[in-house]
Amino acid sequence: MAKILIVEDNALNIKLFCDLLAAHGHEPEAVTDSRFALDAARQFSPDLVITDIQLPHISGLELIRMMRSDEGLAAVPIMAVTAYSAQGDEERIRAAGAQAYVSKPISVVRFAETVDQLLKNGSDKAEVGEGKMDPGSSPG
Ligand code: MN
Repeated sequence: MAKILIVEDNALNIKLFCDLLAAHGHEPEAVTDSRFALDAARQFSPDLVITDIQLPHISGLELIRMMRSDEGLAAVPIMAVTAYSAQGDEERIRAAGAQAYVSKPISVVRFAETVDQLLKNGSDKAEVGEGKMDPGSSPG
């Protein structure tokens, strides 16, 4: 079981991610407003952070950089989830400090596999996940 912080502004995605993680025996906690994400992460001390990239106020990219420069959070693996996969997005997300990248609509299988792999690898540089959509993707 792992503590997983979700930063996501879309209620349907929060429900989907929380249900998926709980079904895998994890303890999810969600933050909808990225301005509170850093404090929430410091308090919850998650084993993994899953963050949306398209967020109002503080973007997912900014949040990843903030976590990477936070002493207590620098080593926590981060998985980014994004609705758009424009050219260069994955590189920018990885350069900001995320270990994995999954595009929406998410494949539930890939989502779960990526979570498992990140929990196993920690914040090692191992690259997991990828940006392509699967035929079996769920909506959302
Ligand atoms: Mn969003």
